[in-house]
Amino acid sequence: MGLLPSVLAVALLFSHWAVAGSLLVTEVRLWAGPESTRVVLDLSESVDYSIFTLQNPERIVVDLDSAKISPIANQSMPTGGLVSGIRTGPRDGDGLRVVIDLTETARPSSFKLKPNELYGHRLVLDLKSSVIASAPIKSPPPVYTPPAAPGAPIQVPAPRTNRNLVVAIDAGHGGEDPGAIGSRGTREKDVVLAVSRQLEKLIRDEPGLDPVMIRSGDYYVSLHRRMQLARQANADLFVSVHANSFSSKSAHGTAVYVLSKRGASSESARWLAEQENASDLVGGVSLDDKEDVLASVLLDLSQAATMEASMDLGGQILGSLGSVNRLHKGNVQQANFVVLRSPDIPSILIETAFISNPKEEKQLRSPAFQRKLSRAILVGVKGFFAANPPPGSAFAQLNRQRRQHVIQNGDTLSRIASQYGVTVKQIQAANSVSAKRLLVGKILKIPPQLTAAR
Ligand SMILES: [Zn+2]
Repeated sequence: MGLLPSVLAVALLFSHWAVAGSLLVTEVRLWAGPESTRVVLDLSESVDYSIFTLQNPERIVVDLDSAKISPIANQSMPTGGLVSGIRTGPRDGDGLRVVIDLTETARPSSFKLKPNELYGHRLVLDLKSSVIASAPIKSPPPVYTPPAAPGAPIQVPAPRTNRNLVVAIDAGHGGEDPGAIGSRGTREKDVVLAVSRQLEKLIRDEPGLDPVMIRSGDYYVSLHRRMQLARQANADLFVSVHANSFSSKSAHGTAVYVLSKRGASSESARWLAEQENASDLVGGVSLDDKEDVLASVLLDLSQAATMEASMDLGGQILGSLGSVNRLHKGNVQQANFVVLRSPDIPSILIETAFISNPKEEKQLRSPAFQRKLSRAILVGVKGFFAANPPPGSAFAQLNRQRRQHVIQNGDTLSRIASQYGVTVKQIQAANSVSAKRLLVGKILKIPPQLTAAR
């Protein structure tokens, strides 16, 4: 006994598949985003295909050579976004035709993806509405100019309109790319979107600030597109929200990262940046879709001011997050994250907690913890803007009128005093604080400036 029967069985299996079409569509998935709708065919192997569009009614036809679809997949076709339905049928003997019914005219682009850790071979169809003209791309990027240093004389009146400051909130991963996955099955893309939504709400309620969600649902946005969207929204800041993961379950804590082109601040920071940068591979980005505008922007010394501001922002947010969770690293970390490469927008990436740590995974799922995280991020953002009030912004004006100061990491009474044009003694008299113990997050009343006698 031994070899012969099993060889026969394998041979029979192969011939069976060969007759019916050797390739199997195992699942059809759909992600509806605001800019496009993505249809993904999961395949048992790489495929030869052709694609064309038909009108009246609007539809896209994909023909696959020697293929069939699993009955389960065929019975549970997704709809959403620009897709009102998906049908299949046999074609040319052993081929498969997939018809995608559309709600309106759409331009399809398609590409194949090779297997990765999560998925096998895939055929990806990105459908863009032909109605929405693609947004113009702004160029060249301006250089970030830091606002006047604290202590510099307050300029009156504000030179430009009272614009709101725009905070771009970038929930990591999404769609095809779940990000890291906890042992209870928690997906990074879901919890970071939940935190981001909480933050969006808080920022919307904050006078002088406006939120912009880079990703507002369960779909993938490429890393370069994330930067483009922030730029198109004229974002003043870019905050990317993630959850960390490590092979050891005991790894824990919150960390904040800024860009470093020259090198990562530690081996683990380098490793993490590689994981996060691989997002495009998992999320599925077409290789011929050259997103060259920002990719071609080389980092150079003109970015120094932006990087310094990013470091400042990172420090503020790390300080306030320290009251919510243990810190993984006490300092702002640096590594070469693609998503942080905007040359003119101060950008940070927050690893809120370790999804691979069972205790922190549980916390990340909790709306209360999500809220605490988002509040701490807001405190950091406000602290950054308060310390560097952009001229002409409503926030800067409110900040002066409000005459309140949220104590930030690294604040000193003398620095606060000079920022508001008052003396340390005045602040102490109005608040009964000692210069030695400034509690981060505590609000100080700022007494009115003494008007000089003329
Ligand atoms: Zn991530």
